[in-house]
Amino acid sequence: MSAGSPDPGLNGVVPFRWACHRCARCCSGGAGHVWLEPGEVEPMAATLSMQPSAFVEQYTREVTDPQSGARRLSLREEGRGEGGRCALLVGAAECSVYAARPAHCRRFPYWDAVLADPAAFEAARATCPGIAVVVPDELRERAFSELRALHARLPAAPNEQSCCLERCPDELYATGLEADFAAAAAPDGNCALGAARPLACRTAQLGEQAARGAVDELRALERSLGYPASYARLTSLLRARNGSIGHDEGSPRCPTTRIPEPPPDPTG
Ligand code: SF4
Ligand code: SF4
Repeated sequence: MSAGSPDPGLNGVVPFRWACHRCARCCSGGAGHVWLEPGEVEPMAATLSMQPSAFVEQYTREVTDPQSGARRLSLREEGRGEGGRCALLVGAAECSVYAARPAHCRRFPYWDAVLADPAAFEAARATCPGIAVVVPDELRERAFSELRALHARLPAAPNEQSCCLERCPDELYATGLEADFAAAAAPDGNCALGAARPLACRTAQLGEQAARGAVDELRALERSLGYPASYARLTSLLRARNGSIGHDEGSPRCPTTRIPEPPPDPTG
């Protein structure tokens, strides 16, 4: 999707935004089909320095399309049933033909069925942590208010800036409600999230046990409100909600730490 073009997910039956985490859950989350269109084998084979016929032999299978009844080529999976993963996936989450991957992969999660059918959307959301449901304003405001109250019940921090900074930000996980709340927050001090930072950023303040109790309370709150549940890396969740938050690959700096403005140049 090009910058500035309308997000097709926002027109679906369940409006959503999406940003890929490159987690590969959609490539490994169970049995399914990755349909191949004419002309898609050759670029993938070339990427792997293979002849197309050898690629077809090793990486594809012919199956019946349940929609049309036609026999079609699909990518092969390793293993069978639940947990089957695309045979082109290497290591934990690397697609070996990423630049040449089929349109079926490129279009996810904007498949027609996902945009049109709530059940298909739920199945996609259960797989893909990059999908951020656009929550109705009324529910959102109520949930934010309850989350503020939960934060207010937490023991006060000895130092409001005590947070996750000694941990790798990619290890911090948050829920969808926390991410929505944080993404809507005004910058506060040196932390872009400030008082809206999720519980994962407060572990040092709370201690492991109290932090776990607070997470249980948060989950119960989300369930009671019917808030769309998700749990994933904070950096990824924020990316799906606010494209401006990110951090350099390999940087230990928290992605929400603001860089102070440089002091004015006294000579200028
Ligand atoms: S499951 Fe979603 S976030 Fe993860 S790689 Fe697939 S599209 Fe990206
Ligand atoms: S071709 Fe690549 S992107 Fe598509 S399912 Fe396989 S590993 Fe995932």
